[in-house]
Amino acid sequence: MTRLTDDQLNALKDRNPVAAIAGDWVALRRKGRAGQYVGPCPICSDDPQSKTAARFECDGDKWVCAVCQDGGDVIALMMRREGIDFAGAIERLGGRREEAPTPAIAERRGLQDHAAGLSINARPEYTGEILAAWQRGWRKGEARAQYEVFARERERTRLWGFWQAAIPIARAYGLHNYFSGRGLDLPPAGCKLGWHPAMPYFANGREREPPLIHTGAAMLAPILDANGRFSGLHITWLDPCGPKGKAQIIHPDTGEVLPAKKVRGSKAGGYIDLGGARDASRMIAGEGIETVAAVHTALKRAGRDLSRTLFRVGIDLGNLAGRATETLPHPTLKTAGGRPQRVPGPDFDRSAPAMPVPLGISEMILLGDGDSDPFLTSQAMERARRRAVADRPDRIVRIRFAAGGKDFNDMIKRPA
Ligand SMILES: [Zn+2]
Repeated sequence: MTRLTDDQLNALKDRNPVAAIAGDWVALRRKGRAGQYVGPCPICSDDPQSKTAARFECDGDKWVCAVCQDGGDVIALMMRREGIDFAGAIERLGGRREEAPTPAIAERRGLQDHAAGLSINARPEYTGEILAAWQRGWRKGEARAQYEVFARERERTRLWGFWQAAIPIARAYGLHNYFSGRGLDLPPAGCKLGWHPAMPYFANGREREPPLIHTGAAMLAPILDANGRFSGLHITWLDPCGPKGKAQIIHPDTGEVLPAKKVRGSKAGGYIDLGGARDASRMIAGEGIETVAAVHTALKRAGRDLSRTLFRVGIDLGNLAGRATETLPHPTLKTAGGRPQRVPGPDFDRSAPAMPVPLGISEMILLGDGDSDPFLTSQAMERARRRAVADRPDRIVRIRFAAGGKDFNDMIKRPA
C-alpha cells in the first residue's frame, strides 16, 4: 500500500472520531469537558456495557487505557482491538479516500494543481485512471494558461491599434471640449491621452460576436506597466450633451445605464501617465483622470511651481493601493447578518502588484476621492503610503481627501 498523505490521514481521522468508534463497542459516559468520555476499554474490558468502568478515557482524537497502559489515535485503537496491522486498520476505518476518488474529481484537481504551480509529476500517489484523469486536468490547465497568454497579447495588439488611430490630445478638440466642460485645464505636457472618433463599446468580453452597444467618440488613455510598456487601455466615451460630458450608454435589452468608462487589457500594476516633469521628485496620484487633472488645474491656477511634479492615475483604488494582507472590521457598516463589514486593512501584500512609484520620487501626494466609503478609502490610502515608504524609506507621502464627500473635480469652480 502506498503511503497516505497527511491530508488523507487527517481526513480519515476526522471521519472517525475516537469516541464514536469506541462508542460502537462499549458504553461510554460523558466526563467533564464536552467531548470527553470515560468507560470500559474496547480492548481489555470484559463487560462492555459496564456503567462504572473508568479505565478507558477518550475524546475525538485520542484514547488512553489505564489497564492496557496504552493509548493513541483511532488507528492505534483499531489495530489493538482487532489485532490487525496499520493497513488493515485504515481499511476498516473506511479506507484511504483519494481526495480525487473519481476521474472527474481528479481532473478538476489536476486543473487546480496546475493553477497552483505544481508540475505534471507532482502527484506520485495517483495511479491508473485517476492519474490519467489528473494529468488530463493538468494539461487542460496548461492549455488554458497558454491560451490566456495568447489572448492577452491579441487584446493588447487590438488596443494598441485603437491607440495608434487616436488623435493626440494636443490636436484633439473633442478632448479640449471635454476638459473645459468640466472646468479643467488640459493635463500637463507629456500626458498620454488621445481622442478616438468611433470607439466601439461591447456589452461584454465574449470572444465570438460580443454585442456592440455603442460606437462613439472616446478619450483613450494607455495603461502602462512598471516598465512603461503598453498593457491596456482606459476608455471614456464622451458626449458634450451627456452628464459631465460623458456619453449615456444604455443597454438595448435591459435598459440599464452602463458606465461610460471601461478598462480593457491588463490593469494590475499599471498606471496612466498624465504628464508633468520627466525628472520629477514629486508625484501626484489619484484614482481617476479627472481627479488628478483637477488637482493639477488647481495648483496651476494657484501659481504653484510644478516644474518637478509628475501626475499619474492609479485607475482604481485597488490598483492604487494594491492588495491588503488582512481585513479589518468596519467601525459602523454591518453585513446583512449583523456582523461588522470587513474591509481591506492598511498592510500591503508585497507579492501583489499595484501602481508603480518611480524611485526618483521623494514626495508623493495621494488623492482620496469622496465617492467610496471613507473608512475603506482611508485604509487603501494608508496601504498605498506604506507601500511607497517600504520602497524608499525617506519618501514623504501625504494623503489628501476632497472636502465634504465631494470629489476634487467638484471643488474646481467652473468658468462662468
Ligand atoms: Zn484497556
